[in-house]
Amino acid sequence: MSYRILTGEIDTETNTFSKVPTTLKNFELLLGDEIPPARRGTRTALGAAFEAAEKFGWTLSHPLAAVATPSGTVTNETFEQLCTWLLGGAEGCQGALLNLMGAMVAVGYEDTEGEILARLRAVLGPDAPIVVTLDMHANVTEKMATNASALIAVRTYPHIDYYERTWQGAELLDRALSGKINPRTVIAKRPMLHGLDGGRTQVGPMRELIDRGDALEDSGKALVVSVCAGFASSDIYDVGPSVTVTADGDTAEAQRIAEEFMDYAWETRAFTTDTTISVAEALERAKTGEAGADKPLVIVEIGDNPGGGAYGDATDLLRAMIAADLQNAAFHAIFDPEAVQAGITIGVGNKGRIRLGGKHAPEMGGGPLEVEAQIVSLTDGRFRCYGPSFLGGGTWRSFGPCMMMRVGGIEVAVISRPEQTVDLAQLTSLGIDLFHCGTVALKSYHHFRAAFEPIAREVVRVDAGGLGSKTSRQYRNARRPIWPLDEITL
Ligand SMILES: [Zn+2]
Repeated sequence: MSYRILTGEIDTETNTFSKVPTTLKNFELLLGDEIPPARRGTRTALGAAFEAAEKFGWTLSHPLAAVATPSGTVTNETFEQLCTWLLGGAEGCQGALLNLMGAMVAVGYEDTEGEILARLRAVLGPDAPIVVTLDMHANVTEKMATNASALIAVRTYPHIDYYERTWQGAELLDRALSGKINPRTVIAKRPMLHGLDGGRTQVGPMRELIDRGDALEDSGKALVVSVCAGFASSDIYDVGPSVTVTADGDTAEAQRIAEEFMDYAWETRAFTTDTTISVAEALERAKTGEAGADKPLVIVEIGDNPGGGAYGDATDLLRAMIAADLQNAAFHAIFDPEAVQAGITIGVGNKGRIRLGGKHAPEMGGGPLEVEAQIVSLTDGRFRCYGPSFLGGGTWRSFGPCMMMRVGGIEVAVISRPEQTVDLAQLTSLGIDLFHCGTVALKSYHHFRAAFEPIAREVVRVDAGGLGSKTSRQYRNARRPIWPLDEITL
């Protein structure tokens, strides 16, 4: 029998502390027939879904692929429209293979993925296999675990295994469709806001638990073990790390495994490799090494990382780089569509004054920066993402009209849609020869490492302010008590 399978993608995480609502305009949207040419042949979740459908003889229903840089709470209308598109393709399907972020929050729905899966379950019925790949920064809920048959979180940070995890899901789905297995998923959590070193998979507790989970899958003691670090910028009741275990039918042993894993996550909750140095020290290293450097010093600005929902227009690091008169340097990027329009008016090759960034939250990370700039390039923002990180693997992306301008010895990228820096082509497509820069500054957190560590002479991280800065936040919705906001003894 040939099965009809729903596939699709809704991928954004919500920083509920952001004042910028997420609407349909924030999404790179692909509908129906637009999806195969954009994703087939790419090393992405949907790229794997198309290949798996061919292998297993499925007919795919692929109504929606929607990806947005993390931002503030999704409007209710936007959430309902995304649901209408995705679930509109579910009728007549015998199963589903979806890629969901797992930390999207909408007005009216703290747990959007749980809601999507509950609605999908209602359409497909209690026995249809629903397999979902997740970001490991998902805030996984009981509702998600109950309504999905299997939850498969990525196991790398930077996330470079969506393709492999989707293939894992497809094989599981094939076995479930043919009645060989009956996947059921259970979840364990602890009163933790964050932990597992933010999900870093190089060393530490996340590495340990992923390895243990792989061993359990290899031995057949579990169908899937997923370890999620959670996303602490979503102030919701269910925020925080989780372990989900998928078993064949009987879930008692799966629950025991999940609890044991979360005991370990709790014990190691304070472990961190999340270190920074001061901006002054970073600039001193840049000045010291800039003469004769054959590889860049990479300075990563973590407080204003759009990948975590920060605004992406904080100016203090760039201001300090200009004041330090860095030479042969690059900066990616300031999110400021108005500044790009000003650059278009000035024109390529010309000089003019530009008022740059600092518009969303001037009190965090610096207000607008007045610069005398030479406009070097203007593009439509489209480029091919060849890097290893999430939407790479040959996918075309766009950050709207983009500009590169020279301010003193620094080449500055200005973009019209916010995004963290994860792919070398984000710079090279604007004409920045980053391989021969003395210093390259980026707005990212950890994802940059996949593409930028191999080309860097050294990587340093600084917190120059911004919405993602390590300052205290007022949580209102997270369940209490919760560590580290409250003292807890378990
Ligand atoms: Zn993530």
